[in-house]
Amino acid sequence: MAKGNCSDSVIAVDMGGSNLRTALFDGDGIVRYAKTVTPREGSGPEIYADAIIDLIRSSLSAEEIASAKAVGVSVPGPLDMEKGELIHSPNLLFPVIPIKAPLEEAFKKPVFVMNDTNCGVLGEVGKDGDGGEGFRNNVVYISMSTGIGGGIFADGHLLLGNTGNAGEVGHLYVDGTYSVRCSCGHTGHWEGYASGRGIPHFFRAYCRKNRIPVKCSAILPTAEDIFAGIREELSRGVNNEDDEDGAGAGGCDRGVFAGFYEELSKVNARAISSITAAYSPAVIILDGSVAANNGELIIAGILKYLDGYLPAPEIRLSRLGGKAPLYGAAYCCALSLRGYNVHGENRSADTHKQY
Ligand SMILES: [Zn+2]
Repeated sequence: MAKGNCSDSVIAVDMGGSNLRTALFDGDGIVRYAKTVTPREGSGPEIYADAIIDLIRSSLSAEEIASAKAVGVSVPGPLDMEKGELIHSPNLLFPVIPIKAPLEEAFKKPVFVMNDTNCGVLGEVGKDGDGGEGFRNNVVYISMSTGIGGGIFADGHLLLGNTGNAGEVGHLYVDGTYSVRCSCGHTGHWEGYASGRGIPHFFRAYCRKNRIPVKCSAILPTAEDIFAGIREELSRGVNNEDDEDGAGAGGCDRGVFAGFYEELSKVNARAISSITAAYSPAVIILDGSVAANNGELIIAGILKYLDGYLPAPEIRLSRLGGKAPLYGAAYCCALSLRGYNVHGENRSADTHKQY
């Protein structure tokens, strides 16, 4: 897979629900980086492509743009890979958002669009792969932020699936006890329990189920409030069996957070166990704000409850500082310029894949 490494410069874009980032890559890595906010209002879906075009033109010189060989764009959520359009992406304003066509029109060069978690796993593999030493053929990348998504790299190939949206691990079924609803409308899905948006709802369901009179439940605490409570209780050696006297973190009954942490850890471990059974990865890389801010707690909890059926993979945080999707978007361009698709196969032997 080191075949994607090349000295051509390419422009990478990471369009998230909150931030829009771009970077110019040459053969050695990022040479220029810029960031702005993702549009929050506008009259039509062209606002997103327009914002990307504006950010590239304002952060790179005309010469830098002209010399770049391709543009790679990481986008959130489901997309039509053939058309390079986002389809019903959560957190964005319009049901169909064209990216590829308007960028090709603006820059007159090839544009590749891929979902953010597939970009994330390619970024991890490409970054390590080009260096050689840390390269693995079997990597699962999981982004835990507002939602949960994954990218699967198995036997040296990116798994896209029938629709190009494989790796939606946030919708793995992990619980039949608390009936927490997922953003997709179903109950029991990992994202509904362990994402930034899901953790507060899982916490409330946990308190109700266990008849815990939690004073702070009138205002739903944020995921970060809850992790702060967990840290505070664990640092005092509190557990959920001795919660009888007085208030603890956040005005909640002492021990509530420590008890909830056990349940959250079980749910996380069920998801990671299923992923391990399905893909047998050598390494599972966690990324996204929830994982980045609370990685130690999350990984320790997973290891405590992970099924022992298969050998446990290495589970660690991303080392790319939140830029894995950007690296992946650049790597996707580099592969394509070298005549390979994102599976690492030579395109001449592949008649139906876009890349
Ligand atoms: Zn779901």
